[in-house]
Amino acid sequence: MSDRGPNTLAVHAGEAPDPATGASAPNLVMSTTFALEEPAGFSINAFEGELPYIYTRWGNPTVRMLEEKLAALEGAEDCVTFGSGMAATSAVLFSGLKAGDHLVMSDVNYAGTAELARVTLRDYGIETTVADTTDLSAVEAAIRPETRMLWIETPANPILRLTDIAAVGGIASDQDIPLVVDSTFATPVATKPLELGADLVVHSLTKYIGGHGDALGGAVLGNRERIEPLRTDAIVHFGGVLSPFNAWLIARGAATLPIRMRAHEEGAGAVARFLENHPGVRRVNYPGLASHPQRELAKRQMANCSGTLSFQVRGDGAALARRMAKELSIIHYAVSLGHHRSLIYWIDTAALMESTFHLEGEQLARYREFAGDGVFRLSVGLEDAEDLCEDLDRVLS
Ligand SMILES: *Cc1c(COP(=O)(O)O)cnc(C)c1O
Repeated sequence: MSDRGPNTLAVHAGEAPDPATGASAPNLVMSTTFALEEPAGFSINAFEGELPYIYTRWGNPTVRMLEEKLAALEGAEDCVTFGSGMAATSAVLFSGLKAGDHLVMSDVNYAGTAELARVTLRDYGIETTVADTTDLSAVEAAIRPETRMLWIETPANPILRLTDIAAVGGIASDQDIPLVVDSTFATPVATKPLELGADLVVHSLTKYIGGHGDALGGAVLGNRERIEPLRTDAIVHFGGVLSPFNAWLIARGAATLPIRMRAHEEGAGAVARFLENHPGVRRVNYPGLASHPQRELAKRQMANCSGTLSFQVRGDGAALARRMAKELSIIHYAVSLGHHRSLIYWIDTAALMESTFHLEGEQLARYREFAGDGVFRLSVGLEDAEDLCEDLDRVLS
């Protein structure tokens, strides 16, 4: 199957007609336990090689189907899924780091990841240095002898800043430090971080891959040697396993990922150009716009510019956000992104700094250069772009 095109892989990888019934669509196996033909051990540590299905926290056929589909889409040897993107993130951080280790992380990324690294990891004796990963010298300067992981997110939530994966991957491999890329915004349709030098890729499946706003999930992908310990330790012992029902929903969403990403990109491009020409809008950040400061990198690293953009307005953003929550008729004023429904949310710079990023000096100045006093993050769904523009125009005017 792996020599097939991405559209074919999205539909068929991991799936096959059921050998007993011939059912064409995948089965949903909700069973938590499996009847064994022979007694087996009681600890995951007692097993070697391919694990039979014993208990759903250890492995489940519907979950495995999704993992195989995602591995095929990402071009990865293996995949392990989790109950949410944050469960995937915490599994990678807590499995890969121990007290005394040091982490280098991008200074702008998903708020939950930023807070976990800056607060929780520190409490466990793991120190984090945040760096503007668009600046390679800042990445190099942040590395210490005890650095054991480099973590980047590209495009970065919420300001759509890009990091050059191949360049950071070069630094990581020179120093023998594993590079983890949160590729949630890009999806494997846009970017394949493993081909560019990443060791692990993390996705929130809740976003584009599931794509319909009805199932939380997370995934980590890489070679077998790196995924196996996550499966036996992070999944079996931390327990943040994906529900088979969610795996089934997410696999159904993933089947249309390539076609949805084309539509997201087309819609986001149209809305981004509309906003860029709107008198009420100061600035739009979207990797597909000629005005994106890293447009050249976007062209090199992203085969699809995805569907999320952020923009600043000229007036009072917080007041506009209140108006949007009440008056938008199609776009939902709601967190999250990557769904077939368009979603918008106001992210105030001062509040985000205080709650999450805590940036100062040059790093704060660089964030503000992108985001001003705050941005609206808009996830463009699969509706008609004219309807979305009309909805936005009414509240912006
Ligand atoms: C949403 C998100 C996460 C967290 O995923 P959940 O499924 O909400 O736990 C992590 N990284 C990025 C970039 C995200 O957008």
